[in-house]
Amino acid sequence: MDNQKIRVDFPMLIKHPDFIYFDNAATTQKPKSVIDALTNYYENDNFNVHRSVYSAAERTTQIFEACREKVIQFINAKENKSIIFTAGTTQSINQVANGYYKYNLKKDDEIVVSIAEHHSNLLPWQNIAKQNGSKLKYIDINEDGTLNLESAKKVINTKTKLLAITAVSNVLGTINNLKALINIAHQKNVDVLIDAAQAAPEIKIDIQELKPEWMAFSGHKMLAPTGIGILYGRKDLLEKMHPTQLGGEMIEHVDKNNFKTKDIPYRLEAGTPNIEGVIGLSTAIDYLQSLGMNNIEKYCKALGQYLYDQLTKIDGVTVYGPEKRQTGIVSFSIDNIHPHDAATYLDFNNIAVRAGQHCAEPLTNKLGVNATLRASMYFYNNKDECDKLIHKIIEMRSFFNGA
Ligand code: PMP
Repeated sequence: MDNQKIRVDFPMLIKHPDFIYFDNAATTQKPKSVIDALTNYYENDNFNVHRSVYSAAERTTQIFEACREKVIQFINAKENKSIIFTAGTTQSINQVANGYYKYNLKKDDEIVVSIAEHHSNLLPWQNIAKQNGSKLKYIDINEDGTLNLESAKKVINTKTKLLAITAVSNVLGTINNLKALINIAHQKNVDVLIDAAQAAPEIKIDIQELKPEWMAFSGHKMLAPTGIGILYGRKDLLEKMHPTQLGGEMIEHVDKNNFKTKDIPYRLEAGTPNIEGVIGLSTAIDYLQSLGMNNIEKYCKALGQYLYDQLTKIDGVTVYGPEKRQTGIVSFSIDNIHPHDAATYLDFNNIAVRAGQHCAEPLTNKLGVNATLRASMYFYNNKDECDKLIHKIIEMRSFFNGA
């Protein structure tokens, strides 16, 4: 992959050449093709979908449904009815919790998550467990931050009804062994939900190979606009799911007292959808596929390794997660400098990193810290930018410590 050529596709990077953006796990920058697709939509195709007979609206409906096909192909799902457009990962997971497991979990049933979950894949399950009298159990991590598969084997048992697990940790940058986890779960008839928010941008996920019951991801973390996300669900489960939103577009028939819903996916997509978001997501997928997901994964992993290797050479810097890096996410802390002070110092130097708990407080607690710094890199970042970050961290250490 030619990094310099790729950077030209991203207006933000070109307009702000001295700015180093290392907060891609919060949201990614958008390529020109995605921005142009949104402009084109508003200039030519801005009509509501699934309701009007005039040809312009019919055309937009066709474009919209072709985007659903694009998503199916991106994750290699079989059924187009299995793709539900949502506002993002958070909404997708809440929909599964409140539309399905709320009705299918009994007292003493168990839900298993890992200690490294983003709050979006934790709070909905805490809530359902409390409402239904079910129990929430945790898979632990190893010393190096990788998921402990032995712990998974112990925690998942005959009472478990759901394993809800992230594919990639948004803090440690580790890739969980989904194949092994799904195998452990399915052997005990346990459903699996994959939180792919941090995985979809960087690694290829194949639904037909892995066969999870559910998967959720967000457009904005993979070059698309905010406010669009995907819920994949196994068709028979989606058919049993209760809509959590009621209103227009989802119904076949309404009288004064009752209504009859359409089939999936429309039954679960009440109201006017995020049409431009869907078009933006489809265009983002085109861009990612033009680079190749395998190339993206390889590039980000190598860049993550490069930054890890440089950071670990600096005295007083602790890097979290394994020595062998798996993605472009690197969380670390600097002795005697609070992460928020460090992030502010870097901001003064035009470098954007995140400081805090990264919406994964139980994991931060497990690491024994209050907060960490996180540099999350994507395929448009490069070693030059890593070197500048390293230089500023060394400079910062002497600034704060007189070292
Ligand atoms: N899960 C993980 C692993 C994430 O990284 C994120 C976003 N940081 C989410 C869930 C939530 O995604 P969103 O805020 O787009 O709903």
